Amino acid sequence: PSKVIIIGAGGVGGVVAQKCAQVAELFSDILLASRTEAKCIAIAEQVKEKTGQVIRTAQVDADNVPELVALLKKEQPQLVINVALPYQDLTIMDACLEAGVHYMDTANYEPLDTAKFEYKWQWAYQEKFEQAGLTALLGSGFDPGATNVFTAYVAKHYFDEIHELDIIDVNGGDHGYPFATNFNPEINIREVTAECRHWENGEFVTTDAMSKKASFTCPESVGTYNIYRMYHEELESLTKHFPSLKRAQFWMSFSDNYLKHLEVLGNVGMTGIEPIDYNGQQIVPIQLLAKLLPDPSSLGPRTVGKTCIGVVVRGIKDGKEKVVYLYNICDHQACYKEVNSQAISYTTGVPAMIGAKQMLEGKWLKPGVWNIEQFDPDSFMADMNEHGLPWKVIELDDFSL
Ligand code: NDP
Repeated sequence: PSKVIIIGAGGVGGVVAQKCAQVAELFSDILLASRTEAKCIAIAEQVKEKTGQVIRTAQVDADNVPELVALLKKEQPQLVINVALPYQDLTIMDACLEAGVHYMDTANYEPLDTAKFEYKWQWAYQEKFEQAGLTALLGSGFDPGATNVFTAYVAKHYFDEIHELDIIDVNGGDHGYPFATNFNPEINIREVTAECRHWENGEFVTTDAMSKKASFTCPESVGTYNIYRMYHEELESLTKHFPSLKRAQFWMSFSDNYLKHLEVLGNVGMTGIEPIDYNGQQIVPIQLLAKLLPDPSSLGPRTVGKTCIGVVVRGIKDGKEKVVYLYNICDHQACYKEVNSQAISYTTGVPAMIGAKQMLEGKWLKPGVWNIEQFDPDSFMADMNEHGLPWKVIELDDFSL
């Protein structure tokens, strides 16, 4: 039995709360805390309805370290699951250090004023966590998260050495709105408008955003989609921890309609992250846009179709080259039935619960700051099959994008 605090009551926070409550014998005391407590209370009611479990709620401003420390010292949980926004990662890590609590998250720290997607700020906490005897697990969502563990699993069981990695994230879902993002709009748009970087022969190569396009046919009749190469944060940690990689790329599917809207919004300046002056008030265009767009946590009932996210790895086994594809397919409506959410929040929230589970069971506790692929993947992979994200591995005769 253990006590956890989940911080953040958005789309992902709702799924994490539901999934932890489903494993009540381990997560025996759950506190859901966020900036707006009303959202925590609404989630707690849904958790009670779906699982019969009672979870507690609290209000907290996660930008405020003393406020966080007071909450953590009063509650004394074993672990904080951070599913607020990337801007809060460092303040929550500081508070965990001060209160003696293990930490995990699903996205790297981002400064508000520059879109960076770099781990350097969080990696700089390595010594502090080590000295405090605490574990910080970084990036336990789907991508980053499950995709890193998939890579580690394939490297461990199928290859002597891995050389090429393609992470392919296809969302074949349709929510029926002209334009909406499946998770926090601000983070999503920052990510897709950032210039592309991919790993090639020992260094990152920069190209224009969305400048490389390919077609990908998903297995099991999920369909054929246009995918675009973009930068994603797990490329930084995976190329560091698997130095045999000669090339690593991340791809995501986008519909023509999504890209058309994004282009127009970008052209008129609505995706900017620098504040502008409007009648004497400072307004960040992308934050105003986020206010106008549908709340991602409201997409659940209306989203149909499937996601297919996985890794294609080329490498050497017993002197022979081969290609292996490991993937999960997830159905938006099945997620909605289970936890009142669409598949994007679901595929993030389930690995967050599973990462937390590995830590609470003591399997993934080691003082310091770790990316998820640095731990043994096997028990996490077994739990993916148990807790709603079953996966498959196939060998491909050949593969190119
Ligand atoms: P949402 O915007 O839906 O939810 C964010 C939540 O955090 C809201 O409840 C918000 O509160 C709360 N919050 C924001 N600022 C603060 C603060 N200062 N103090 C306390 N709470 C705060 O986002 P998502 O649920 O879609 O995403 C959550 C996280 O998951 C993000 O970091 C995102 O990047 C990450 N993610 C990771 C993925 C992966 O695969 N690795 C995929 C998708 C998301 P309020 O309600 O008051 O606004």
